[in-house]
Amino acid sequence: MNIKRETADLAVDEASHKSRPSLDAHLIRGDEAFEVFGSSKDGITSDEAKSRLDCYGPNQLQEQKKTSTWMRLLLQFHTPLIYVLLATAGATALLQQWVDTGVILGVVFINAIIGFVQESKAEKAIESLKDMLAPLAVVIRDGTKTQLPATELVPGDLVLLEGGDKVPADIRLTRVKNLQIDEAPLTGESMPVAKSAEELQGDVPLCDRVNLAFAGTLATNGTAAGIVVATGDNTQIGQIAGMLHEVEGIDTPLIRRLASFSMVITVVIILFCVFVFLVGIFTGKETVEMLMAAVALAVSAIPEGLPAIMTIALAIGVKRMASRNAVVRNLPAVETLGSATVICSDKTGTLTRNEMTVTRIVSPDGSYFVTGSGYEPTGAVLDESEKAVELDASPAISELVKASALCNDSLWRQKDGKWRIDGDPTEGALLVLAGKLGLRQEAATREWPRTDEIPFASELQYMATLHHNHSGHALIYLKGSPETVLSRCAHEWSSDSPLDIVTWRETADSMAADGLRVLAVAEKRKHPQETVLEFEDTEQGFALLGLVGMTDPPRQEVIVAVEKCHAAGIRVKMITGDHIATAQAVGRQIGLRATEGAMTGAELEKLDDADLDQAAENVDIFARVAPAQKLKIVQSLQRCGHVVAMTGDGVNDAPALKQADIGVAMGITGTDVSKESAEMVLLDDNFASIERAIEEGRTVFNNLMKTIVFILPTNGGECLTLVASLLFGALLPILPLHILWINLVTTVALAITLAFDPVDQDIMRQPPRDPQSPLIDRSLVWRIVYVSLLISLGTFGLFFYELEIGSSLEAARAVAVNAIVFFEVAYVFNSRNLNDSVLNRRGILGNRIVWWGIAAVVVFQVVFTYWPVMNSLFRVAPLDAWMWLRILGVSLLFMLLVEIEKAIGRRLALRSQPVP
Ligand code: ADP
Ligand code: MG
Repeated sequence: MNIKRETADLAVDEASHKSRPSLDAHLIRGDEAFEVFGSSKDGITSDEAKSRLDCYGPNQLQEQKKTSTWMRLLLQFHTPLIYVLLATAGATALLQQWVDTGVILGVVFINAIIGFVQESKAEKAIESLKDMLAPLAVVIRDGTKTQLPATELVPGDLVLLEGGDKVPADIRLTRVKNLQIDEAPLTGESMPVAKSAEELQGDVPLCDRVNLAFAGTLATNGTAAGIVVATGDNTQIGQIAGMLHEVEGIDTPLIRRLASFSMVITVVIILFCVFVFLVGIFTGKETVEMLMAAVALAVSAIPEGLPAIMTIALAIGVKRMASRNAVVRNLPAVETLGSATVICSDKTGTLTRNEMTVTRIVSPDGSYFVTGSGYEPTGAVLDESEKAVELDASPAISELVKASALCNDSLWRQKDGKWRIDGDPTEGALLVLAGKLGLRQEAATREWPRTDEIPFASELQYMATLHHNHSGHALIYLKGSPETVLSRCAHEWSSDSPLDIVTWRETADSMAADGLRVLAVAEKRKHPQETVLEFEDTEQGFALLGLVGMTDPPRQEVIVAVEKCHAAGIRVKMITGDHIATAQAVGRQIGLRATEGAMTGAELEKLDDADLDQAAENVDIFARVAPAQKLKIVQSLQRCGHVVAMTGDGVNDAPALKQADIGVAMGITGTDVSKESAEMVLLDDNFASIERAIEEGRTVFNNLMKTIVFILPTNGGECLTLVASLLFGALLPILPLHILWINLVTTVALAITLAFDPVDQDIMRQPPRDPQSPLIDRSLVWRIVYVSLLISLGTFGLFFYELEIGSSLEAARAVAVNAIVFFEVAYVFNSRNLNDSVLNRRGILGNRIVWWGIAAVVVFQVVFTYWPVMNSLFRVAPLDAWMWLRILGVSLLFMLLVEIEKAIGRRLALRSQPVP
């Protein structure tokens, strides 16, 4: 009793409760929980909720203390490239080249700031994704069921849970039906725990407190109701929040590959520099001179800007996808997306609009058509002579509609003047049907309250509910796929003769062949004393009330998206729990390929692995598929070498989503469990968003390639220039400081613009990228070498020409630096398309940000060339108009030479292609 008092105190004494979790909630008796937490069977009132929210704060974990800003800035210096630069700064200091030391340190610092800003931006982009996926909770407030953001929960709220939900707070369960919870996030134990509402006594360890559901854990099965006992940081998980806080780094396999790539480059360069240095010493050059040369080489060859640009390109891609309704939970998926070869999609809601409208009814006393569309209650049920049906005059229809409204977990109501559905649209359509006949769910429920239920699950293909009315009768209602329901029926409603199951099946099939989603509805009496619904109760002896057929039109945009996928070498497969004929009808409407050779889950089950692989490859429609079979299909496709994107919404889809290369969950209808297992969440549940995400994924990858192919030749060109002048003992056209300026200022400013390149019109006309293929193929390696040669030749040429005609060394160097920068400006256009010509409107004007980058670079160069401070820092002199003309002329020539190389490359590629 003592403990109970204390808990009560905890709940009442709100101020102290704030800092203390209600650790002992499991000791409260179920029926007392309401009282202890100031709640009732109707939940709390919204006013009460508001004041409690003010008192307890929102139901969310306090942001973990992030790494401090200073620390994050410091971490920017923690890269091998920066270490090399710092070492060179040290070397110049030793040589007492103070200006150089200062400039190198300054540039390193600017680079760190750029990196820091970009990283924060990228992180913010990722952070905002999390908000988009904020979970909802179903609660009872003011006696009505409502859905609200989980952050608004307060202690005392009466919460409803069902399989698939992420538990939104710590909850003392008061009613439990088969509830199983995966508590791995809390205990690490991955076997789901069966929960109950029973009272516990004494000192029970956390994992055995079966009458509590803990925030952050996942309900895998069943349903329950309970009272919130702790929210936010007071929850169990809040106590160990440090562990929970999943910080998703911006690392992806590609970024890691690139990081190790630049690591290798760095090591090679350092070895090379040491080599050059030693050779110089042995051939009698001066130590100081050689040290300077080695330093120059090191800074020229290292692509300093590359890692930062990779990160920003990826973050831009993720942001663009989110704006197109595809939220990436897991960054590597962005790259994988570009390689997808198969998309396996749900039908209902993803390929179709999920706006179900009942259009046909077949009951034992005849067949009916329903008019009206959407969720408005306008329309009527017409019999075969097109006369509107009245509920009172048609007992069969009346009972069917009543059953449909009662055996139903969704809500249909008017909000802001518009009728809408909360819950499953399939069920919503049934409520609208009832509404058209003047029957409201609330009225039916008042007369026949629900006492128990077997909730809908994809594997079952049905749901059942038990109802007791106030005059001592009990009924079980059953609704589900015709296959499962018809076989459980003994006779038609209000008739004693046995059911003609064959004819009913044919009716159902012919409705499905018209593309309708068909549900069968049945009822059965139960002994009024029994208040528990068991699986045995639903196995036989039902009276069939009829079949209901609903349309679910395909999404128009999906037709285009499917076509685009096909053009892009991506196969689209429909995997649905619905009837095979319905699936085929929809498949034909949206233009799937092999719509004739559809297959059912049961047929799949009979195949051995080899046949399964063949079926998975060739069949495009799989119907009546259970979630476990989805997993088999993914595995089989992967065995055939496919990169698979797979959609899913239910709890049991989680394994298939995890197995798929890209698991795609539904933002609107998906369960929390499926979202947790997915790599990507579609905010609008729309297949077309997958197609667009793939487009963006390919674009991100392309843009990354473009930036690499853009950046490396600058380093190559600088490096070649230096090596050549060392070899020939000539004057250095560019100094280490110039190289740092180019690499960290102008190259970065230009390369970043490529990350913003819009989606290429051709991108969905190319086959998927082979994930095994090398990052930079042979033709691009050649491009990098070729451009490096051009840059060093051009720089040399212009530099020595200036010396030849008697310009000062400072002016000649300024020409050399500007030449490299304007070669880059020309080359940024070349790089906008790695294969095709850019000498057209789209190539030159297609990316406005490129022009902004160029404008910035022009300003930089003007300052560099004409501001006396910069002149003396960089040891250069102003240029005259003729010098500029020569630089720009050669740059234009340079651009043409690269385009010619691309054109030759295209010819060669064409020739080497196998003749079809
Ligand atoms: P899908 O969403 O791919 O069409 P599901 O696995 O959700 O398939 O559903 C399988 C079958 O179960 C449906 O074809 C339908 O006959 C039946 N069904 C779907 N939703 C419900 C529901 N809420 N209640 C009863 N039966 C349902
Ligand atoms: Mg469904």
